[in-house]
Amino acid sequence: MNDISRTRSAELYEKAQKYFPGGVNSPVRAFKSVYGTPLFIERGDGCFLWDADGNKFIDFCCSWGPLILGHNHAAIRENVIDAVARGMSFGAPTVLENELAGLILNNNRMIEKIRFVSSGTEAVMSALRLARGYTKRDKILKFEGCYHGHVDSMLVKAGSGLVTFGETSSAGVPKSFADETIVVPLNDRKAVEEAYRQFPGQIAAVIIEGVPANNGLLIQDKEYIGFLREITSTNKSLLIFDEVITGFRLGFEGAAKYYEIRPDIITYGKIIGGGMPVGAYGASAEIMSRISPEGAVYQAGTLSGNPVAMAAGIGQLTELLRPGFYEELNRKTEAFAQSIRDFAASRNYKLKVFSIGSIFWFAFTGKNIQKAEDIDVLSMEQFKMLHRELLNRGIYLGPSGYEVGFISAAHTKEELETAKRAIFDSLDIIKPTISYA
Ligand SMILES: *Cc1c(COP(=O)(O)O)cnc(C)c1O
Repeated sequence: MNDISRTRSAELYEKAQKYFPGGVNSPVRAFKSVYGTPLFIERGDGCFLWDADGNKFIDFCCSWGPLILGHNHAAIRENVIDAVARGMSFGAPTVLENELAGLILNNNRMIEKIRFVSSGTEAVMSALRLARGYTKRDKILKFEGCYHGHVDSMLVKAGSGLVTFGETSSAGVPKSFADETIVVPLNDRKAVEEAYRQFPGQIAAVIIEGVPANNGLLIQDKEYIGFLREITSTNKSLLIFDEVITGFRLGFEGAAKYYEIRPDIITYGKIIGGGMPVGAYGASAEIMSRISPEGAVYQAGTLSGNPVAMAAGIGQLTELLRPGFYEELNRKTEAFAQSIRDFAASRNYKLKVFSIGSIFWFAFTGKNIQKAEDIDVLSMEQFKMLHRELLNRGIYLGPSGYEVGFISAAHTKEELETAKRAIFDSLDIIKPTISYA
């Protein structure tokens, strides 16, 4: 099969290289881990994308998660147009902030108060400052394989050893910042216990993704999350769930409800803004009272609670509250994932399809994967081939094998059938018979 035409996208990318570092405004968009140049997207509708060359795709990236209703959903679009007609920003309170907060707080028992910001990164940065201000401690424990946005102190990776100070994983992060971050492997109780032994009374918070979904889909056991709840409480640290992906995705109340575990602070992003730049963090009224102007932890934003972004969030979250919304979406995803598992098994292909809620991830292995170190980099060559075969068959996945896929309410049975057939055909070409890991 010939590769799709990318003439126009390639021209646009060449021009973009003159304007932006690497030709993009966020690194993974550059297609460095897959074949070809990035596709420039012209428009999206429902579960479909069209690129600048007129190619049409079924989209499983969904803007990296925000578009749980698919592209160009009428309810969101109409809300946004309404808001835009009344002005784009005032730097003063509007009723739309109350409305979105009301929708969330009246239907999410995990938090009592919320603060809106403009990205997931900003939500995490603020949550960490709040945890430090609240506990009067400095160290944060994070997990290898969890991504929390490009916050300085979170751009750290594990060194060697069970419990390590973070080593910076980006130039420009002072070592002294990384020294306040402790990095341990996921799914390893001993490592967390050891960290508390080594740094008694110093750990402000443990931060974990609701379900780690930025470095493969590393589904943790419920008991392990319960253990984190317990050890943080015992040691008077806070437990932060970074639910920028899982919030409003696993269900309206996110991973916290999924585990039936109440964290101390939760961060949101992606879905909460319906495709507009919104992030948020929330906690009990008591913890949130520490935030400025009520408390001493400073946090602000010129465009925070932006009316157009709030209107988009209101449009999206209102739809999510319809009875049966998540049951239907999650059932559809599980059936999709299971049929690919069945196909792979029937052919003896070494492919695992991990899935939870409406998130899925292809891993070229025969093993269960719960830690970053379980992922074999060699398996990424297989993903690279899969990505190309799927693009050629009109299926768009995020351009990296470490990224998860998302299914939206706009993916109908028919389109999921089409996608499945394309995936089966692609697998029959790649024939993944080696189990990596
Ligand atoms: C995407 C993401 C972030 C960062 O959000 P941005 O809006 O890209 O800044 C933080 N944490 C998690 C878990 C994410 O998936």
